[in-house]
This record gives sequence, structure tokens and C-alpha cells, in this order.
Amino acid sequence: MRKQIVAGNWKMNKIFSEGIELINEIKQKAGTVNQTLLVVAPPFILTTEAVKMLKDTNIGVATQNCSNKPEGAFTGEVSAQMVKSVGANFVILGHSERRAYYHETDELINEKIKISLENNLVPIVCCGEVLKERENNEHFQVVAKQIKGMFDSISSDDFKQVILAYEPVWAIGTGKTATPEQAQEMHQFIRETIKNSYGSEIASNLSILYGGSCKPGNAKELFANPDVDGGLIGGASLKADDFIAIANSF
Ligand code: PEP
Repeated sequence: MRKQIVAGNWKMNKIFSEGIELINEIKQKAGTVNQTLLVVAPPFILTTEAVKMLKDTNIGVATQNCSNKPEGAFTGEVSAQMVKSVGANFVILGHSERRAYYHETDELINEKIKISLENNLVPIVCCGEVLKERENNEHFQVVAKQIKGMFDSISSDDFKQVILAYEPVWAIGTGKTATPEQAQEMHQFIRETIKNSYGSEIASNLSILYGGSCKPGNAKELFANPDVDGGLIGGASLKADDFIAIANSF
């Protein structure tokens, strides 16, 4: 059985003290959440503290990125080994904002996935089309190409660790959400694509999260779909009540 997961991507929000407050609030309120793995992805400056505060809970900690390089003269970068060394277990990779603003390509994301897996981090890997691609009816083709490039030469054993997130870029931070039908048909397509490369057992155990303006008001209808295994939540993860309400929407 695949896991139900709700992960919060805080992006570049919350200074240290605000972050501590939010982690505390999530920790206090998470008691109502059953059978769903919660993951928080605060900015790097909060990773160590988040791990300490969430020790002995069922809430995992992710970073929002890591370097494709192991170590060395790469000013401003944080390696997968460093992330692991402070006790975080997850890393979000290939987010559309990293693609759009920092020119990340499928090839670079592939390197990051590999180095994360080498360091026993679970990569939460994002894919999704931009509005123009959906309007041109190219969304399946685009997502298939991203998946092919990002998972190039990644073994079945390694792929078993991966979590995928389908995030239509036109829905991220825009208030526009994919309809439950749009989410389901893409998630089903992604699972089929993975099945063709890695076989049916790995595909059926893969958690595929939906991301894009997911909120307490629409999470239930999205999560009700058979191939939607949870959410990668941006804006709504910055409020503990909303984050927990989403996690309780299965
Ligand atoms: C995201 O950035 O991963 C995301 C889904 O953002 P939002 O929920 O704000 O659309």
C-alpha cells in the first residue's frame, strides 16, 4: 500500500522566530492526523531546529533544494550530505520555481536526485506543465519528457524511494486549482508512465502528490481520486490550521 503524504513547502517565508512558532503549532495540532505522513519543508536556516523540534513525532523534515555537487567551492550551495547530517530525511527537487527562476533543467534535477539518493534522502520530485502547454494540449507530452529526463539511469531500487508531485504550474500560487478530473487523469498517466519504466509493483507503490492552490476547501475532492496520494502544499502550509485540515482531508 502506498503512503498518503501531505508536505508543506514554505518557500522563502518565515524568519527564524516565526518558523519556530509555526513548527510548534503544527506539532501541537498534528495529533488529529491519522495514517498520513506529514512533512514540513522550511527554509534552510530552520532545518536543524525543525529536526530537533520534531524528533519523536511522525512529522518529517525536508529541505526545498540541495546542490547537485557533493562538496567544494560552490558558494551559496548546500549539499545533500549536509542536509542529511542535520537529520532531515526529505528534499524537494525540481520545483517549477527553481526551473523558472534558477534555470534548473531535467538534467540538473537528475543529478540532484542521484546525489540525494546516495545520501539516503527521499526526493520529492516535481513535474508539471505551464499554462501555454496545457492550452496547446501538450501537458502529457511535457510531463512524460520531464519524467524521462529527471529519472534517466535511476535504478528500480533507487526509484522505490522517490515521491512524485504533479504541480501544474498554472495552478501554483494562482488560486486556480486543477479540477479533480484533471488531477486524476494526469496522476493516472504518471503512474502508467512509471509502470512502463519500472513495472507495476513500483508504480502502484509510488505516492503521487498534487500541488497547486490546494486548500482545506478543495483538498477532499482532490484526494478522493484513486491516483492522488496527497498534496504538496505551498501557501496553505503557512497556516497550521489549514495545513492540518488538508492532512485530514482523506
Ligand atoms: C507549491 O509551490 O509547491 C505549491 C503547490 O504552491 P501553492 O499551494 O501556493 O499553489
